[in-house]
Amino acid sequence: MTEATTYQTSRTALRVENARLVDGTGALPVDDAVVVADAAGVLTYAGPAALAPPAGGEASALRVIDAGGRTVLPGFFDCHTHLAYAYGSPPGRRAELDPVLVTYDTATRLRQTLDAGITTARDLGGLSTGYRTAVETGRIPGPRLHTAVRIISHTGGHADFRLLDGTDLTGGEMAELADTVDESRLAVRRTLRAGADLIKICATGGMASPYDQPEDEGLLEEEIRAVVDECRRHGGKPVAAHAQGTAGILNAIRGGVTSIEHGYGLDAQALELAGERGVFIVPTLSTVFGGIDKDAMPEHHYRKKVRWSGVTKENIARAIEQGARIALGTDAAVCPHGRNLRELGHLVDLGMDPMAAIVAGTRTSAELLGLADRLGTLTAGKTADLVLCDGDPLADIGVLGDPANIVCVVQDGVVRKDLLPTAEPTGTRGTNGTEAR
Ligand SMILES: [Zn+2]
Repeated sequence: MTEATTYQTSRTALRVENARLVDGTGALPVDDAVVVADAAGVLTYAGPAALAPPAGGEASALRVIDAGGRTVLPGFFDCHTHLAYAYGSPPGRRAELDPVLVTYDTATRLRQTLDAGITTARDLGGLSTGYRTAVETGRIPGPRLHTAVRIISHTGGHADFRLLDGTDLTGGEMAELADTVDESRLAVRRTLRAGADLIKICATGGMASPYDQPEDEGLLEEEIRAVVDECRRHGGKPVAAHAQGTAGILNAIRGGVTSIEHGYGLDAQALELAGERGVFIVPTLSTVFGGIDKDAMPEHHYRKKVRWSGVTKENIARAIEQGARIALGTDAAVCPHGRNLRELGHLVDLGMDPMAAIVAGTRTSAELLGLADRLGTLTAGKTADLVLCDGDPLADIGVLGDPANIVCVVQDGVVRKDLLPTAEPTGTRGTNGTEAR
C-alpha cells in the first residue's frame, strides 16, 4: 500500500452515503444513514438518508464515500497507551536503543494505531510532546495525542526501573521520582514543564515492575491529594492513577484522581466510592487477558499476571454490571500495538453489551479526556472523526479488533485510511460538487 492511497492532508467536504450509523451515544443504529462534514472537518449532519440535506449545495469540492451498507462509527479512543515503547521491550533498557530508530519506530506505531481505528490516544508514560506536535502539524499520521510524558512514582515504585545499584538505563524518559508531599508537587511542576497534558501517578505497584507487587501501595493519599491540587492550580489537568491493588485504588479515589487505570482490585467498596466521585475506570483488559506469554515475559511478570487475571474478571465484571464509568484503554506496549479495539471484545466477554462497549470507546473516553464537546459522538457540530468497518460490530464486536476490517478512517475531516473497493465512487467529484445523483 502506498502512502498516496492511505494518507492525504488535503481536506474537502465529505458525504458518507449508504451507511449504517452507530453514533456513539448508545442510540439505536440508523440503517441507510448519511453523514456530512463541511470543508472545515465539522459534521453538519448524521442521521437517516431520508432527512439528509441534498448533496450539491457545497461551496467547494465534495468527496462522496459509498459505505456500501457498512457501519460508520465515531473515531475511537485508546486512553492508555505507551507508544514510545515496542511491544515486549522493557523500559529499563531504553538507553541501549538508537534514539533515531526509536523515533522512526514510534512513528510507525502511531500509524498502526490510527489504522486500527484510534483517532485519539492518551499516552501514559514515555512519549515526549514532540510526537503530539508532529501529528498536530501534519508531519506524521497518527492519533491526536494527549501525553503524560512521564510517570510519578516512589523510589523503587512501579515506574522506577533503575538497576539494583541505582543505575538508570531508561534514558530518563519514564519516571519522575517523588517520595514526599513536597517532592510530589515538584514532580508535577517538572512534568507540566515538559508539556504534559495530564499527570500519571503510581498509586500501587505493578505487574512488570521488578521491585513491587500490584497490591503494594504507591504514593500516599496525602501525596496524591497534593498532585491533584497542583494540577488544579494548572488549569485542572486530569490525574490518571496506575492502581491495581485495592488499598492503592482507595488512596487514589480519596486523593481525588480523575481515572483509575487497570483497577483490577476494584472491590465493591472501591466501586461504590468511584461512582460517588465520578471517577473513570480504564480496565486495560487487553494486557490482562491478551498479554500473557510465558516465553516472552520475565518469570516474576508471568506469575503476577496469571494470579491477577482471576481477580480482574470478578471485579471488572461487577463494575460493568453496575454501570461504572468505563473508558477504553489497552496499555499498548504491554500488549501489541495496532490491535487496540480488541479491548472491546474483552469488555463484552466480561458482560458488557456491544453497544455499551462502543460508547465506552467513544463518548465516555472523550469525556475522560475533556474532549466530549467536539469528539466521541457523531452529531452535527462535532469534529469529523469517523471509522467505517466491515461486518456487524453489534452482532460480533470482535470485527472491530481486526484492523483489516477497519476499511476507512477519517480524522478531522481528512481521509487517513481508505481500503474501500476502488470500484466504488470514493473519488472527489467535480469542484462544484454538483454531480447529479
Ligand atoms: Zn500503562
